[in-house]
Amino acid sequence: MRPVRVIGAGLAGCEAAWQVARRGVRVELYEMKPGMRTPAHKTDGMAELVCSNSLRSNEVSNAVGLLKEEMRRASSLIMEAADKTRVPAGSALAVDRNEFSKYITGKIRSNGNISVIEREVTEVPDDDGAVTVIATGPLTSDALSRSIEKTLGRSGLHFFDAAAPIVDGGTVDYDRAYFASRYGRGEASDYLNCPMTKEEYDAFYDALVSARVAELHGDDGSLNVFEGCMPVEVMAARGRDTLRFGPMKPVGLPDPRTGREAYAVVQLRREDTAGSMFNLVGFQTHLAFPEQRRVFGMIPGLENAEFLRYGVMHRNTYIDSPGLLTRTYSVITRPDLYFAGQMTGVEGYVESAASGLYAGINAARRAVGEDELILPDATMTGAMGAYVAGGGLSGNFQPMNANFGIIAPLGKKVRGGKRARGEEYARRALEEMDKIKEEGLI
Ligand SMILES: Cc1cc2nc3c(=O)[nH]c(=O)nc-3n(C[C@H](O)[C@H](O)[C@H](O)COP(=O)(O)OP(=O)(O)OC[C@H]3O[C@@H](n4cnc5c(N)ncnc54)[C@H](O)[C@@H]3O)c2cc1C
Repeated sequence: MRPVRVIGAGLAGCEAAWQVARRGVRVELYEMKPGMRTPAHKTDGMAELVCSNSLRSNEVSNAVGLLKEEMRRASSLIMEAADKTRVPAGSALAVDRNEFSKYITGKIRSNGNISVIEREVTEVPDDDGAVTVIATGPLTSDALSRSIEKTLGRSGLHFFDAAAPIVDGGTVDYDRAYFASRYGRGEASDYLNCPMTKEEYDAFYDALVSARVAELHGDDGSLNVFEGCMPVEVMAARGRDTLRFGPMKPVGLPDPRTGREAYAVVQLRREDTAGSMFNLVGFQTHLAFPEQRRVFGMIPGLENAEFLRYGVMHRNTYIDSPGLLTRTYSVITRPDLYFAGQMTGVEGYVESAASGLYAGINAARRAVGEDELILPDATMTGAMGAYVAGGGLSGNFQPMNANFGIIAPLGKKVRGGKRARGEEYARRALEEMDKIKEEGLI
């Protein structure tokens, strides 16, 4: 049996270490706290929730709710802690963040198979026979980030400060939006355009410049965003027409139904070949999430759009994973090295923990010489791994929350709307997880 080391005791790292340990494999868990903290981490505990205390929906008809239930079937420590430290939050699963972190820290520290080593890891460990899982998160310390970049190759790591929201293509109103690329260059189907009249633009503009922005998290580099990648609301504040000459310029985009150019246009760019996801071009933003739904929901065609990922603004170190990582999160050219968590391009607390679970299971299997466990794309956990390994258009890989746009299609029509469809995805996914559990693999 080979030893396993996990680097980073955040959501992904704790779950990975737990999954390794529960398979009877010894694991060293490295964490740089308490000696060193990222700008967003405020406590010395493990699995610290750096912002909201909500793990989002707990309903299986919702993609992140389904992901939770799959994790429960796989004896997830993060889910056990969340269920034990739950606070009332309607259909969402919110936790007492201190109790949550305390519960996980206690379980990890008292597990005989896990040794905790408190120090910053500054280099990707050499290929020394051990199996390694790196789960150091979106704010990975600088030295390790440089070493990861060197290990993966020059363009292996992205650092972004601001990202635009992504909407579900199936929820756009195609009576309002139309396909066209500017001046007819390239594939028309790559862009969806939402045209605005002057009245619509004025109302949208007023809402945008007065909307509430999210709180900043310490000195995490967010302020530098104003130099390179300006949030749409900041650009808008420069003048009423700035957006009409920037990301909302209508020239070269006549509406094929009228032949005329609109007063302003919001362009949505295809995120995947199936056209199930579109990002709002140039709409990187720091607005609070409910404000994004309210203000961007005023864009003609997006009135009922479902946001698969909200725009965010913070430092986010993530790997350009397609072509570098496998669907189980190991490095294609170095299979004993796994990555897990937000740094692989999954987005969110639960998604990060789920990738830690999947990578941890396989790190343990590799350590004892077993074949990897490949989860089907009909499960949310498996679909997220598949997205990371191959998702998005090449060169345009974007971090992604759990959503039904990436899970294997149902291949049949389901009556009863979105909720019924979600329930059908869940029924199929949990059936798969139960089969895998019966085989003793999770
Ligand atoms: C400011 C901010 C706000 C966010 N808000 C939300 C939110 O509200 N909801 C949501 O779902 N997601 C949010 N996210 C995304 C969130 O980071 C992830 O969802 C989640 O915390 C990532 O889990 P992780 O395990 O990948 O990383 P983390 O939870 O960040 O864990 C990484 C761990 O590795 C340690 N570490 C880092 N470098 C080293 C090193 N070199 N050596 C040893 N240890 C190291 C860190 O101290 C940390 O404990 C936010 C992210 C940021 C940056």
